[in-house]
Amino acid sequence: MTKKRIAVFGIGYVGCVTGACLARDGNHVVGVDIDQGKIDALQKGFPPVAEPGLDQLVEEQVKNGRLTATTDAEAAIGDTEMALITVGTPSTDSGAVNSNAVKRVLETIGQCLRSGEKNYTVVIRSTLLPGILEEELKPVLEEALGEEIGHRVDLCNNPEFLRETTAIKDYDNPPFVVVGAEDEYRAKPILDLYNHLTAETIVTDTRTAALIKYGCNSFHALKVAFANEIGMLAKSFGADGQEAMRILCIDHQLNISPAYLRPGFAFGGSCLPKDVRALTRYAQQQAIPSDLLQSILSSNETVLDAAFRLVEKAGQRVIGLIGLSFKSGTDDLRESPQVILAEKLLGKGYDLKIYDPDVSVSRLKGANLAYVDRHLPHLSALLVEEPQEVFDHAELLILGTNIANDVDWENRFEGETIDLRKDLVVSQDEQKLANRQTK
Ligand code: NAD
Repeated sequence: MTKKRIAVFGIGYVGCVTGACLARDGNHVVGVDIDQGKIDALQKGFPPVAEPGLDQLVEEQVKNGRLTATTDAEAAIGDTEMALITVGTPSTDSGAVNSNAVKRVLETIGQCLRSGEKNYTVVIRSTLLPGILEEELKPVLEEALGEEIGHRVDLCNNPEFLRETTAIKDYDNPPFVVVGAEDEYRAKPILDLYNHLTAETIVTDTRTAALIKYGCNSFHALKVAFANEIGMLAKSFGADGQEAMRILCIDHQLNISPAYLRPGFAFGGSCLPKDVRALTRYAQQQAIPSDLLQSILSSNETVLDAAFRLVEKAGQRVIGLIGLSFKSGTDDLRESPQVILAEKLLGKGYDLKIYDPDVSVSRLKGANLAYVDRHLPHLSALLVEEPQEVFDHAELLILGTNIANDVDWENRFEGETIDLRKDLVVSQDEQKLANRQTK
C-alpha cells in the first residue's frame, strides 16, 4: 500500500492519537492546531494530551520525521493529499452540536485548494449529527473552494470510536471501520489507511455513518443507565444487582445480541408489556429511580400512535390488516400492537378486515378468547379466511407481521400499502434505493 501524506486538523485526544498511529503505520502526518502550545509540545516530541502509550509513540514518530506539527494550515494542505478533521464539536448552550471549528477548518482547506488542480480528500472524523455534513459543511467547503465538491475534492466522514485511556488500543482494534462516502471509489483512500486492521470495514452514506457514532454512544449510555436502574431495584428487592447483571450478560441469544435491535414496529405479546409494567410499578411504589424503565412503555405507545397517524395520513378509510397476533406463528393476541392498532382504527370508524392464518376465532381458547372478548368482540366479523378477501375489500393494506411474506400481496393487491415492519423507520429515499438495488 502506498503510504499517504495526511494533515490532521485538531491535535486533541482524537487527533493526536490518530496522527501518531497513522505515522507509526508509515504515513507522513502533519498535525495542525490553532493552539500554539500544543504545536510547540508536539514539535518537541511531547503529546499535548495525556494518554497511555502516547508519550513513546509520539516521541518515536517525531524523531523519525513522520510526525510533524504546525499552525500553518496552508503549508500543511500544500504538502498533503488528505485532511482528517478531528477538531472539537462541543454542545452549545441549547445542547445542539457546535460545528463552528469544523466549518473554520473547511473554509481554510477550501481557500487553500481554490483554483488549483490538486485532488484532495477531506475526511470528517469529528462527531457530527447526520445532516450537518450534507447541509452545512458541504456548502461551506464549496463556497471556499469556488467549485462543487466531488470532482477533484471529496468530502467524506469516518467516525472515530476510540475511548480515552485505551485510545491506541482502540485505534488498532476498532469495533469496525465506518466510512461515509458517495461511493466505494471515494471511500478507498480512507479505507487504505486501515487495511492492516482486522476490523470489518463498512462503506455507507454519510448520514448513516454519522448516525452510527451517535447510535453507539447512546447505546453505551443506555446500557449504563439500564444497569444502574436494575442495580437499584435489586438493592430494594434484596437481590444482588451485580450478580443479576453478570448472569443477564451470559445470554448471548437474546440479551447481548442483535435480537430486538432492528427498528420496526412496537413490541407486544403476553410477557414484555406485562413484566415491564410490574417492574416499573414496583419502582414507583418504592420511589426507586427508574426514569429509563418508566419510559419504555410510553415509548412503545408513541410508536403505536405513529403507526395510527401513518394510516390517517394515507387517507383511505377501508383497510386490510395482514397479521393480528404480535408475531407470525402464534395465536396469542394478548397486548398485540396489531390488536391495539385495529381497536383504534375501529374506534375511529375505519372499515377493517383482517387476515391472520394463526388466529381463528373458533380455535381461540382460554386467556386468548377472554382477551378477544374484551378487546375485539366483533373479531369474528372482521377476520377472513383468505388473503384475497382482504385484497378485494381494502383500499389500504397494512402489513403487520411476517405473515405478509407468505401472502403474495405484491402481485395480488393494487392499492397503497403500509408496512409496519419498516415504514415508520425507513425513509422513502432509502426504500427507493433498496427497490432499485433489488430490481
Ligand atoms: P479536543 O478538544 O481534545 O481537541 C480538539 C482540538 O482541535 C484542540 O486541540 C483545538 O485546539 C483544536 N482546534 C479547534 N479549532 C481548530 C481549528 N480551527 N484548526 C485546527 N485545530 C483546531 O477534542 P477531542 O476529544 O479530540 O474530540 C474531537 C472530536 O472527536 C469531537 O467531535 C469528539 O466528539 C470526537 N470524539 C472524541 C473522542 C474522545 O474520546 N475524546 C472519541 C471519539 C470521537
